[in-house]
Amino acid sequence: MQAARFILLGAPGAGKGTQAKVLADRYGIPQISTGDILRAAVRNGTPLGLEAKAFMDAGDLVPDSVVVSLIDERLEEGDAENGFILDGFPRTGAQAAALDELLAARDTRLDVVVSLEVDEEKLVERLSGRLTCGACGSMFHKTYSPPKMDGACDKCGGALIQREDDKEETIRRRLENYRELTAPLIDYYAQKGQLKRVDGMQDIDEVTRLVEHALGRN
Ligand code: AMP
Repeated sequence: MQAARFILLGAPGAGKGTQAKVLADRYGIPQISTGDILRAAVRNGTPLGLEAKAFMDAGDLVPDSVVVSLIDERLEEGDAENGFILDGFPRTGAQAAALDELLAARDTRLDVVVSLEVDEEKLVERLSGRLTCGACGSMFHKTYSPPKMDGACDKCGGALIQREDDKEETIRRRLENYRELTAPLIDYYAQKGQLKRVDGMQDIDEVTRLVEHALGRN
């Protein structure tokens, strides 16, 4: 089976966004990241952005109803017809149940859920060293993937910043929310027989290889 509709599940800093970008390019399917959609809305000052910003800055989850309608709209776009990679959604039991309904209504289902597993110490190290382009959202890391020019995005030349929610106290809050609200989804999908676990501690290329194996692609 070649998975085309799948979730990358994992804690903040587990590498979901990094892997989703590589695989989306490789397979020609969209990466659907609720975090990216929400950050763009905040940058553009839309009503959605205004509603989401305080939750995001505090490291808390945006209400389920908001992200579920976001995903509902995003799945309607033509590029999601033949597959998609969900990155950062679902994050609660209610979101997972809503996703099941959204997919059933479209007569489709998930192929697989890949859980990227990374130790908490490593998550903190990754998040606290992360640099994000304020203009295009590309991500770098002070140690693991530094930009070619200090402080500037390789892709668009925009200024690199530390995301408000990548600061230490907020990281802790995000990890707490992950443990409490999102980690139970690992069991939820395991019980449905859809879960594949991947060691997310390896370097980026090796994790890609392991994820592709879990997807039945290599
Ligand atoms: P991320 O880039 O995936 O770490 O998301 C950044 C922030 O956006 C999170 O800390 C939440 O505040 C919000 N967010 C992203 N995805 C979701 C989701 N599925 N449910 C609720 N909040 C979300």
